[in-house]
Amino acid sequence: MVFRGWHRVSHIEYPGRIATVLFVARCNFCCPFCHNPELVTESESLPHIDGEEVLEYLRKRLGLLDAVCVTGGEPLLWARELRPFLERVKELGYLIKVDTNGSLYEEFLTLEDLVDLWGVDFKVPFARYDLVGGRGEVVERVLQRVLKRRTCAEIRTTIYPPLHDLVTLLEMARFLREAPVWYWQNFHREKTLSPEAKEVVPYPPSLLEKWRDTINRELRRDLVTLRL
Ligand code: SF4
Repeated sequence: MVFRGWHRVSHIEYPGRIATVLFVARCNFCCPFCHNPELVTESESLPHIDGEEVLEYLRKRLGLLDAVCVTGGEPLLWARELRPFLERVKELGYLIKVDTNGSLYEEFLTLEDLVDLWGVDFKVPFARYDLVGGRGEVVERVLQRVLKRRTCAEIRTTIYPPLHDLVTLLEMARFLREAPVWYWQNFHREKTLSPEAKEVVPYPPSLLEKWRDTINRELRRDLVTLRL
């Protein structure tokens, strides 16, 4: 199977539910602020997690766990391999959440009918996706699609000072005007993909609170929620 990490019980990954969290290796982006760099660059040295062992674990915990979350790395790089596994997870009655950077539209469609909740990163304004190694027009299509089903999308942005200021965040907010919620998480520099990112000082939470309030006022609704 494609899993290289497993957090058996999480109370925060699936809102309001108890979940088990599986991590896949590799990513097609290179976000400087990535906080799981080992999954991106050193995945071959990580242990393989047997999908059958995970399914057996899920069978034994029916009624104790609610959901399975797949994160990474970029799960949609493994959409073909994940599909039969997630079908069996679904048969057991679990909710499924998949995190993605939104860069693989066909692969997104491959899993769409199985996924109850998508966690989609919205990294920068679409025209600037080259800064994280991707193409904004594909991410825009994925985001438009998840936003059509309002309840199944969790849109997140890591606020990283070299990429974000109030102007860029306002531009992104206007695209998300109709989204149920937009989560901001502050950048942490303890573990990063780019060595230069370790030198970047995160914005103070008080500034993010101020920008949140400015944007929510501009949109006349509580779109932005901080997860600091
Ligand atoms: S932050 Fe996510 S999308 Fe970016 S490199 Fe890391 S795993 Fe990939």
